[in-house]
Amino acid sequence: MTKHDICEFCDGEIEYRIIRARFNFKGQTIYVDNVPAWVCVRCGEQYFDAPIYKRLEEIARHRNQIIKTVCFPLAEYNMAIS
Ligand SMILES: [Zn+2]
Repeated sequence: MTKHDICEFCDGEIEYRIIRARFNFKGQTIYVDNVPAWVCVRCGEQYFDAPIYKRLEEIARHRNQIIKTVCFPLAEYNMAIS
């Protein structure tokens, strides 16, 4: 059932994990917890099996029903650091 044995980007090993998935849909990013996914142990790239991907799309399409939000610090690369 392994769809990817090796990462397309860095040739790293792929592991099956339950993750917080980052999913881009129509220019928007959503995060989904407890998603079964294949994750590159080297670069962290996430791969989803087709049914999982479909489910994530479904969730993204109904993102107005998402009730929880998470905040992330957003830095500027050129920010002043003292
Ligand atoms: Zn990789």
